[in-house]
Amino acid sequence: MSTLEIKDLHVSVTTEDGPKEILKGVTLTIKDGETHAIMGPNGSGKSTLAYSIAGHPKYEVTGGSVTLDGEDVLAMSVDERARAGLFLAMQYPVEVPGVSVANFLRTAKTAIDGEAPKLRTWVKDVNTALGANGLDASFSQRSVNEGFSGGEKKRHEIAQLNLLQPKVAVLDETDSGLDIDALKVVSEGVNTFAQGGDKGVLLITHYTRILRYIKPDFVHVFVAGKVAESGGAELAEQLEAEGYDKYVAAAR
Ligand code: ADP
Ligand code: MG
Ligand code: MG
Repeated sequence: MSTLEIKDLHVSVTTEDGPKEILKGVTLTIKDGETHAIMGPNGSGKSTLAYSIAGHPKYEVTGGSVTLDGEDVLAMSVDERARAGLFLAMQYPVEVPGVSVANFLRTAKTAIDGEAPKLRTWVKDVNTALGANGLDASFSQRSVNEGFSGGEKKRHEIAQLNLLQPKVAVLDETDSGLDIDALKVVSEGVNTFAQGGDKGVLLITHYTRILRYIKPDFVHVFVAGKVAESGGAELAEQLEAEGYDKYVAAAR
């Protein structure tokens, strides 16, 4: 059992004009076995939510709480969050020159499990995970994300997800910049991860098209720094037809 609980989360960033509140009271509970989609217009604060859960230093939490199985996530270092079972795939994955994919993944796995994976099976597992996401074995020797295309970065993240087997995955615009083939592969990777039934997924997206391949249990409309409405998968269909206009107007 695992539950990620976000309660009345307020987050600010520092701008030239002083602090600016971006998240204005986000409340959301993701239980294991559940896939939640957060959908909202550009600039509504979706990535800010992901960064805040990840512990990015630029985002200052001014109120509310985030807990994983009752543990205070906001008090944890970035490493501790990963060890606790959180996985965060960012909209713009960072490049890590000089660190190979194979070493990066092994270090991450070791940190999470508390012991290094056995080398022989690990190399096989890495290549299988890369292959399942349409990346050939040569990627394991390349520097993390360096020179990767947008699609290759996303494929690599989903390979990571399935290797590391976190409790809860937060995926920020995993679908952006993907062609239809890559979208299918990446969606299958997320579905494979979610299949176990004991995993939580928070899928952040701007477009409804990924929801043709990943079926969310819950859909949340995110506007102006908070959840404006929550519903089932049918809410995504309504958004596809009607867009965000009415929610944006109501938030003004
Ligand atoms: P989304 O992911 O929904 O498109 P973001 O979370 O990226 O939205 O951004 C929400 C708002 O916060 C935007 O107006 C953006 O310009 C602002 N913002 C985000 N990060 C920063 C930052 N580091 N400094 C200043 N403004 C920021
Ligand atoms: Mg955006
Ligand atoms: Mg974003």
